[in-house]
Amino acid sequence: MFLVVSVSPVLPPRIAAWLANEEMARIYERVRSYRIIISGYDLTQRCNLRCEGCFFFEGDRSTGYADDLDADRWEAFFRSEQQRGISYPHLAGAEPAVVPDRLAAAAAVFDQGLVYTNGTIRIDPALPFMLHISVWGDDATDSRLRGGPVLAKALRLYRDDPRAIFMYTISAQNRGEIRAVVERVAHEGGRISFNHFSPTRLYRQKLAGNVADPLTPTYRLSSSENNLCLDDSDLVAIHDDIAELMQCFPESVIYSRYYNDQLARPGPFFKIRDGVATNCPILNRSDHRQYRSDLSFDDSECCIPNVDCSTCRHYVAGYSRLMGEMRDHLSSESEFRNWLELVDTWLRLHIRDYPRDGLAT
Ligand code: SF4
Ligand code: SF4
Repeated sequence: MFLVVSVSPVLPPRIAAWLANEEMARIYERVRSYRIIISGYDLTQRCNLRCEGCFFFEGDRSTGYADDLDADRWEAFFRSEQQRGISYPHLAGAEPAVVPDRLAAAAAVFDQGLVYTNGTIRIDPALPFMLHISVWGDDATDSRLRGGPVLAKALRLYRDDPRAIFMYTISAQNRGEIRAVVERVAHEGGRISFNHFSPTRLYRQKLAGNVADPLTPTYRLSSSENNLCLDDSDLVAIHDDIAELMQCFPESVIYSRYYNDQLARPGPFFKIRDGVATNCPILNRSDHRQYRSDLSFDDSECCIPNVDCSTCRHYVAGYSRLMGEMRDHLSSESEFRNWLELVDTWLRLHIRDYPRDGLAT
């Protein structure tokens, strides 16, 4: 998981002309004031849940590493990461809330960052990080896919937490519940955004019947006929639902209109060669690393190394790709405006107390 928000200090003349628009200039200056260098850290291999199709456990690239380093070792490691230039850690796992001492070690070094959590365990309110809380549907779907009413508990713990964004991973199993969940989160005072379910290679192999013994705690219910994967028609319907909800709940739904449009396009979101995304910045940037719980890393792995690039629409990768393509958005003022709206929305998802006034679209 990574991104550098880097905007060229030398403005081509046509951008300067577009920035005669006061609103565009304000957002542009705001966006370019951030310099964020990200790497990802699996703080632990442990999780208190076992969700169907989990990107972490349905595969062999995230698990199997030692998970016994103490908090002092983590803090020293985070200091070395800061010296390497990292300014914004993405703290993940499995579930980082089960290792509060490691979260505290990160907070002793970094004053900003992001925790990916399922929201069922209280995270110290003093920690400075944003929280993206995974949501998989309403109570019945939660119970089926995650083993209990995860959203209900997360709302109890985090609805008033200014760090929290509820991140709805939309799948074929819950795409009919988007409106109900958004209404529920909005009425509780929370903020919500969206992710698209992106299957792991192992999950897809199991669906295809290519794994002899497929059943695991994170593969209990799925079949080739009934699973979590989205198809092209789902993408269009999801786009339309989200566009409507953005209109209905502008204070609660934090999502880029331009990103929504881009995600609805059929087929792979990334350019794929030999099964690997060639234009995924998470994989290709040299400063981004995804550390495992034993502090090892591999340059050939992204932040979600089990996931199949050919069907990846994970929001971390999707936003990162488009944000890194500023030069592809300079052909017209409206394209540039799209790019600005996307980056501004991404920052709202990642920076505490980010201004609320977005770019009108
Ligand atoms: S999806 Fe997240 S919360 Fe669910 S089992 Fe995997 S790591 Fe745990
Ligand atoms: S496109 Fe591939 S490399 Fe990039 S985040 Fe998705 S799975 Fe990882």
